[in-house]
Amino acid sequence: MAEEKQGARKARKQAICRKAQQQHSHFYERFAHWSFHQSDVVEPIHWHRERWVLAGMAMLITLLSGFIMPAWASAMRPAAVPEAHTVLKLALPKVAEVSAPAPAVDDWQVVRVQPGQTLSDIFTGRGLSMTDLQKVVDASGPAKTALHHIHPGEEFDFLLGSNHVLKGLRFDQDDANRATIRLDGDQPTVSIQPRDMDMREQVAHGVIHSSLYAAGDQAGLDAAMVGKLADLFKYDVDFVQDLREGDSFTVIYDDVYRDGVRYGEGNIVAAEFINQGQRYTAYRFKKAGGDYGWFSEDGRPIQKSFLRIPVDFTRISSTFSSARLHPVLGLMRAHKGVDYAAPTGTPIHAAGDGVIKFKGWMNGYGNFVIIQHSGTISTAYGHMSRFGSERLGQHVTQGQVIGFVGMTGLATGPHLHYEFRVNGTQRNPQTVTLPKPELLPAAQLAKFKSQVVQPQLARLTELDARIKLAKTNAPANNDN
Ligand SMILES: [Zn+2]
Repeated sequence: MAEEKQGARKARKQAICRKAQQQHSHFYERFAHWSFHQSDVVEPIHWHRERWVLAGMAMLITLLSGFIMPAWASAMRPAAVPEAHTVLKLALPKVAEVSAPAPAVDDWQVVRVQPGQTLSDIFTGRGLSMTDLQKVVDASGPAKTALHHIHPGEEFDFLLGSNHVLKGLRFDQDDANRATIRLDGDQPTVSIQPRDMDMREQVAHGVIHSSLYAAGDQAGLDAAMVGKLADLFKYDVDFVQDLREGDSFTVIYDDVYRDGVRYGEGNIVAAEFINQGQRYTAYRFKKAGGDYGWFSEDGRPIQKSFLRIPVDFTRISSTFSSARLHPVLGLMRAHKGVDYAAPTGTPIHAAGDGVIKFKGWMNGYGNFVIIQHSGTISTAYGHMSRFGSERLGQHVTQGQVIGFVGMTGLATGPHLHYEFRVNGTQRNPQTVTLPKPELLPAAQLAKFKSQVVQPQLARLTELDARIKLAKTNAPANNDN
């Protein structure tokens, strides 16, 4: 009996199951292959109704969270100072008008100049006419030049009334002055407000591990300031060949601040550079003429009378020697200069101030230039691909481009053949003792020593002592 009962119950159960399966067969068919386990075979997606609904929901949520809700939220915020450069007209729900009280102050709109933009582009972009632009230019007075030459990144603030009437324009006349033009009075007016420019002295100390730029970066100097530092010591230190790990620098310099915000780098006030144990210094000093220059501790100009190397070279392909095998002639011959290999077209600089004594073709040298400097010294430059614009007899200053690297004459590759001649005899340009620049005149030298060197040297020494103290006090983690 019990068995019969059980059999009947089982049959009933199966019947219910079957019925349910029949009723929901379309569901089972559709989802029977769904699994929580990853299938090796990826089923192609069939877009049934359910999936359309799901996708629709997902899109609605995306739209709500990404677009409609932020728009609504920003509309509810109190009116911010409009710094937007373009205004998109959006069909927003009327909710937007609930808040946003009329701004009490003038509602200037800032427009930043994009590369390639002209002032008329900016005006038309704001819905303004050329007549408006002309009115501004006519009213600009001393600030007119700033309107004629605009640069990417500069900002123009527009004050617009209702119906796109231009009420005012505000912009930088130059680094230190701001111009405001108002067109909403009886007469157009321009007012110039000087900006608050000030210098703030900074100090930095760096130790070279990989490169000068890396050390500068670590010391908090920007690339431009590292460039200025390298420029000061380039006469004494060859930053390509002479730099060693452990070399260090200490520098006191100015940063320029405008209206309390850092605006750029100023000048180096004092600096010392220690290269392979040798100490070099540079101090800024106002000369008798009113110009500033940099001088070493003993009062000689940092800028030497001669550049040791007059070209930005890639390698020295041949040094000065009394006998070498000539690469083209195949003969033993003296090489009375240094060959600096560099790509064709690399600029060649005058090693010092002087006069062009020779410019033309010279056997073996190809295109050749000789500069006569003061006294008995002359320098010579060979194998140029072309000359600079200076004529024969013309005065040139140190660093001026007098020609370009090439391989004219007897040369196997592009390089500069450089000679340093004393009384017409070639000397080794790499080792010859270069004449020292003139000391400051006595009266100036005294002023330089007492007013510049004494106080700044004390500061540099104190800085170095502080850094050394910090090093000895710090846990020994920098002994690598
Ligand atoms: Zn040579």
